[in-house]
Amino acid sequence: MNKEFIKVAVPITGEEEAAAVREVILSGNLVSGRKVNEFEETFAEYIGVESAAAVNSGTAALHVALAALGIGPGDEVIVPPLTFFSTISSVYHQNAIPVFADIDKDSFCISPSDIRAKITDRTKAIIPVHLYGNSAELDEIMRIADEHNLHVIEDCAQAHGTEYKGKKVGSIGHIGFFSFFATKHMTTGEGGIITSNNTEWIKKARIIRSHGLANRDDHVCLGYNYRMNEMAAAMGNVQLKKLDNFNKQRIENSLFFLNELGRETAKWFRVPKFSKDIKHTFFWCPLIVNTENGFVTKDVVNKLKERGVEVRQRYQEPLYKQKVILGLSPYSNGCPFTCQPESNIPDYKSLNLPNVEVLAGNIIGLPNHPELNQEDLEYIMEAVLGLY
Ligand SMILES: *Cc1c(COP(=O)(O)O)cnc(C)c1O
Repeated sequence: MNKEFIKVAVPITGEEEAAAVREVILSGNLVSGRKVNEFEETFAEYIGVESAAAVNSGTAALHVALAALGIGPGDEVIVPPLTFFSTISSVYHQNAIPVFADIDKDSFCISPSDIRAKITDRTKAIIPVHLYGNSAELDEIMRIADEHNLHVIEDCAQAHGTEYKGKKVGSIGHIGFFSFFATKHMTTGEGGIITSNNTEWIKKARIIRSHGLANRDDHVCLGYNYRMNEMAAAMGNVQLKKLDNFNKQRIENSLFFLNELGRETAKWFRVPKFSKDIKHTFFWCPLIVNTENGFVTKDVVNKLKERGVEVRQRYQEPLYKQKVILGLSPYSNGCPFTCQPESNIPDYKSLNLPNVEVLAGNIIGLPNHPELNQEDLEYIMEAVLGLY
């Protein structure tokens, strides 16, 4: 069968996005203005929060969120080790220290019981990551945060529209943030946003994203240039209208695979279990490779590629095994570890969190994006079932 190569993710943009961006370009109003305001308002409404501040990437969104909450030098922030690197690079950019908690073996998201185990008197925040379109166990995480007076920043960069007990993620923690990178549920090319019911934090975030300027002349805090531009916002306004339909398709495609595959007794993979409390939006359609039966995830990925099916295989290793982390060298002068009055050097080298060690690199994501047709889906199913 001469089948076209099936990509795991594609940005879905067309004439409407092009027209919206063209209109902005011809208007001459290119920097943050009306389109950005509209995008912030409609996105906040979609998520179900009071207010939102748009920025130029998801990474910038997290950086601004941490700064707006006053998380700074020497503070500890509890994070999962199975996520994109920017979840922790933003913590280091604030000269704060990421402390890793293990993940839950079914949801792949941060484990509330291990969060409890990692709290010290320096802990200031928790960043649950809603990985692959799932949701972390937010009730329990908010309870822990209340007990210990911590802030919760939800990393929703893979979970636009995901719901936890009927509420959208990004509306439950103290602050939420999203990414609009090209392969996410919706895109602005590059972009990000932070969401909150606390309008003071959002006001602070708007100041931080724009040079720390409170008005035309007064720099009141350390800021950045993280503003979203009008072209990106115009595209975001169009994409947001399409998001629910995109998600509907992602979910249908993923459930088609997972229901069918769940019925099979294949030796090389198993289908993850999902909580009924969560509306999963399947950024990934995840399968776990049964490495204990001798299967090697890299081989699975390569064999599927040979059959014309691209799959995701991230994140290969827990973040605490990255060179920059093991070398304790995010900054060359020892910050954030040894430039505080009392040095606080985490022992990343001997970290061994059991669930993440077993799962990292052994979860694959099947193509499930909205552009796939029934023929593609069936082809992917055949390739998966006929692999070994
Ligand atoms: C994509 C992503 C980010 C960062 O977003 P960018 O827009 O690429 O900066 C952060 N966290 C997670 C989990 C992501 O997937």
